[in-house]
Amino acid sequence: MPHGEASATESIRIAARFRPSTASEIAAGARELRMKLGDDGKSVWVGPDEATGVYTVDVVLPPSSAQVQVYSHTASELVEAVLQGTHGSLIAYGPTGGGKTFSMVGDPSDERLAGLIPRAAHHLFGELKAASPGAQTSVHCSYLEIYKEVVRDLLDQPPVEFKPPAKRASLRDTVEASRPKLGRGLAIRESPEHGIFVEGLTQAAAHEAADVIECLAVGNANRFAGIALHDGQAARSHCILTLTVRQKFEDGSSTYARLSFADLAGSEKTAHATGETLAEARLINASIMCLSNVVAALSDGKEYVPYRDSKLTRILQESLGGNSKTVILLTCALADEHAAETHEALRFSQRAQRIKNSARVNSLESAADIRTLKQDLEAARGLVSAL
Ligand code: ADP
Ligand code: MG
Repeated sequence: MPHGEASATESIRIAARFRPSTASEIAAGARELRMKLGDDGKSVWVGPDEATGVYTVDVVLPPSSAQVQVYSHTASELVEAVLQGTHGSLIAYGPTGGGKTFSMVGDPSDERLAGLIPRAAHHLFGELKAASPGAQTSVHCSYLEIYKEVVRDLLDQPPVEFKPPAKRASLRDTVEASRPKLGRGLAIRESPEHGIFVEGLTQAAAHEAADVIECLAVGNANRFAGIALHDGQAARSHCILTLTVRQKFEDGSSTYARLSFADLAGSEKTAHATGETLAEARLINASIMCLSNVVAALSDGKEYVPYRDSKLTRILQESLGGNSKTVILLTCALADEHAAETHEALRFSQRAQRIKNSARVNSLESAADIRTLKQDLEAARGLVSAL
């Protein structure tokens, strides 16, 4: 193992959030599953009838939960960990429409509706600014998408022209022109210093929370501009936003930690078969299927864990059974029609809960790390003197 201090073994934490029924579900007369919370706030009984089981998680967030409450039970402790030099990972898992993106992003411009990523950015920069003035710090943001087993950089995509082309083109031509060239995508590599990383991924320097929120907006625009025009693909890609935090203190000690937010594709297994070949449907579901296999292998204590079977599990390898503090946010709907998916997601959480991680404090060891920090500080000084 590369560097760091003694590691603490800790189970992955599970937070289960149940969203309220939407206006359209209510208008359609949807019946809701019955739900009963245990007195401890950790056990939940969900179901149409008494025969359905009780699930135990670390915290149940009922439909009345506000975004700020969800934050304080999930990402808040990860920001604290990252400030101490430990990698943190928050993974949103659940069926399409369960509330993953609402929880992760929400409306960043609205104090009440802002999701976990904008809240974490404010929390992180607030703490860094309050920290000892002699410390040198840098934060970099990356944002990637995995779709059909291809990894794309969401911060480095050719700009999409929305202006109507000079010559009248068919809608199909416009869609084709704006579709990114998927190619083979970015490669995943491993180094002794940095563990597993995506090669060539843009690392945008962030100096305040607004920079992170801008990366989120730019990345989401690239995501939707590229693929959502076609069909419901956005729900079937995985997106991971990562903040890399480097700190060097006056006493010469240093830390290096990553904070990742993974908004996964819908966990439902059925592919929307319309217009897709079986091979395509398999590719779309590959990462979610493989995530189940990895979680099953880890929770059963198997020696061989098939991390390399998909891009998602390879990128999340450290978060699942490795050097990271990890929280899984399960997002589910209570409307009756989603019952099967809700139970499936809760069953997944029961297996994931048995996974043990051992996070340690990482220090800035490589010359490259220190170079990055120095370059960033010089760039920041340049900005200040230019004002
Ligand atoms: P997912 O990303 O899991 O597919 P979304 O986050 O897009 O699901 O949520 C589906 C719909 O439900 C959206 O219209 C969203 O605004 C709404 N929604 C999700 N969670 C909540 C919540 N906790 N409170 C209110 N509305 C929610
Ligand atoms: Mg979503």
